[in-house]
Amino acid sequence: MYVQIKNLQYQYKNSTEPTIKDFSLTMEKGEIVTILGESGSGKSTILRLLAGLETAKSGSISIDGNRIMDDKSFIPPDKRGVGMVFQDYALFPHMTVATNIKYGLRKMSRRQKHQRLEEMLELINMTEYKDRYPYELSGGQQQRVALARALAPAPSLLVFDEPFSNLDANLQVKIRDELRSILKRTGITSIFVTHDQADAKVLADRIVFIENGRIQRIGPPDEILGCASLLMWANS
Ligand code: ADP
Repeated sequence: MYVQIKNLQYQYKNSTEPTIKDFSLTMEKGEIVTILGESGSGKSTILRLLAGLETAKSGSISIDGNRIMDDKSFIPPDKRGVGMVFQDYALFPHMTVATNIKYGLRKMSRRQKHQRLEEMLELINMTEYKDRYPYELSGGQQQRVALARALAPAPSLLVFDEPFSNLDANLQVKIRDELRSILKRTGITSIFVTHDQADAKVLADRIVFIENGRIQRIGPPDEILGCASLLMWANS
């Protein structure tokens, strides 16, 4: 298995009960998994544990055969090869599209950087926009640049935290279709976090439904979105 997450436990210091309880998940290379759950169910915390921004109390994580965290080891965030895309895109406002995308490529030669930049611009269909600044772009375009910046260093795993929450409804539908198709074309393994069942349905090969830090169900969208507790949640 390409991604192996085993029995993660986590508790914030000022919390009275564990935030993440026994979280396990395996993923194939190129698979897209959506973690679906209500606000406060622990979704972002799981992404933070994967990225190395928090340290689990116990459990282990391996990606592409590399152990990045267990009882004895902890690979720091910048060495993990886990890319993150946040809901506010977090583009650097004083940098152009091109400089934003090249940001994560510091270790490459000038020529390699240029080539990778051109590939990424083509992938997101924004070659003509490379000299613009983020404020000169629409929300959807900013989202695409954020994706290109995260994809450019070829991470082994890409994680997205509610990436559509700042887009209006029409754009959300367009962007999530587009995003799925870009991810499938590049073959990148990715995890999305969302509280929106429609996002989960369109994006995911499999959905992990969590409640109160614990996995309730894992399966293909059709199976998971039909289950009783989710229907109750949707109707509440
Ligand atoms: P979600 O992404 O599903 O909305 P989170 O992972 O952000 O959920 O939060 C899970 C739980 O952990 C919530 O009860 C939240 O209040 C709590 N929490 C999140 N961040 C912190 C923090 N830095 N310190 C203490 N508790 C936190």
